[in-house]
Amino acid sequence: MKTYKYPLGKQSNTIRIGNLLDDMWQVHDYFHKWQDQRYREGLPYADYHAMSAHLTDLKQTTHPHWNALPSQAIQEELIRIDNAYVRFFKKLGGKPKRKPRHKFKSITYPGSAGWSLKNNRITITFRKWEKGKWRYDRVAYTFHKHRQWHGTIARITIKRDSCGGYWLCLTTTYTDFRPLPATGKSVGADFGMKDAYLTLSTGEKIQHPQPLKQNLNKLRSLNKALSGKQKGSNGWWRCVRQIARLYREVSDQRKDFHWQLASKLCKKFDTIVLETLNLDGMKRLWGRKVSDLAFYQFVEILRYKCSKHKRLFKEINQWTATTKPCSTCGFHNENLTLKDRQWTCPECGSDHDRDINAAINILRAGIAVT
Ligand SMILES: [Zn+2]
Repeated sequence: MKTYKYPLGKQSNTIRIGNLLDDMWQVHDYFHKWQDQRYREGLPYADYHAMSAHLTDLKQTTHPHWNALPSQAIQEELIRIDNAYVRFFKKLGGKPKRKPRHKFKSITYPGSAGWSLKNNRITITFRKWEKGKWRYDRVAYTFHKHRQWHGTIARITIKRDSCGGYWLCLTTTYTDFRPLPATGKSVGADFGMKDAYLTLSTGEKIQHPQPLKQNLNKLRSLNKALSGKQKGSNGWWRCVRQIARLYREVSDQRKDFHWQLASKLCKKFDTIVLETLNLDGMKRLWGRKVSDLAFYQFVEILRYKCSKHKRLFKEINQWTATTKPCSTCGFHNENLTLKDRQWTCPECGSDHDRDINAAINILRAGIAVT
C-alpha cells in the first residue's frame, strides 16, 4: 500500500468539504459518547455490528439528517472507533478519546463509491433533500497533481490541516519496491544530542538543521502578538493561522531533512545498524530538543526506505554496552563520563572519539546478531 498526497486548490466550494467534516464529527462525537454511557451503565461493549445497527435506527428516528452523509464514510468512522476500542481492550493503546470538532480532520471513502477521479479533478457526491426526495450534488475539485500515482486506488481520504488547507490522499495497492545495487558496505550509526545528530562508524558526523530552534524567535514573537489580541477577533484568527503555518513549515523542513538523510544512507550502505532509543528518558533530560530532532520519525522513515531498497535494517538493544568498550581491543573503560568526548584507551593506547567509537561498537553488535 502506498499513499499519495495532493493539495486541493483554494476554491470557494471547499467550504462544503469543511461542512461535511463537521457533520461527520457529529457521528464521531455521538458514538464515543454512546460507548461511554453504555460503559457507565454496565452494558457490554457494542462492537462494529452493534454500532452499525444502532446507526440504522438513528437514521430512521432521531437523526434523519445523517442520511445526507456518505454512508461508506460513516461505516469507516465506526470501524475506526471499533478498532480503537479493540486496541484498548487488548491493552495496546490508551482509552479512545473523543476529539473536539476542530481536531476532527479526515474522512475516508473506502472503495469507489461517492467519488470519481479524472486527471487532476476529483468529483465528490453530496446528498441533499430537495422537494421531497434525495438528490445528488456532484461537486468537482481540482488538486495539484504533482506526480502520477501507480496501482489501483483502494481508498481515498480527504484531510483538513490546521492552516485551513485541504488535501486529497489516494491509497493505492502499489508497493514501491526498487532494490538498489549492492555496495558491500555496512554502517553503524549512533544518535547524539550534543556533537552531532548522527555519527557513522565511518567517522562521518551529520548535523541536524533543528528547524524549531531556528524558528523559535519568530514563534515567540507570534505567540506574544497572539496573547495581545482579543480571542476570536479577526486579528486573533490571522495570528493563529500564521502560527499554524510556521509549525507546518518547521515540520516540513524536518521531514525533508530526514528523507534525504535516509535516502543517502540507503544508497551508500547495504546494512544499517542503529541502537534502540530510550526516548522517554531522553525527553526527561533534554525536553524540546528531542522533539525537534524527532529521532523516532527518522527511524520510521529509514525503516521504510530500507524495505523499499532491500537494505538490511537492524536495531540493537539499548542495554548493549556501546560507549564504554574500546572498539580496538575491547577494554571496558569504566571511568568514562558523559563529559569525555575524546579518550585514550589505557590498554592499547588508541585515541577514540566517543561517538565514533560507539558507532563502531553498534555496527559490531549488529553484525554479531545477524
Ligand atoms: Zn583499546
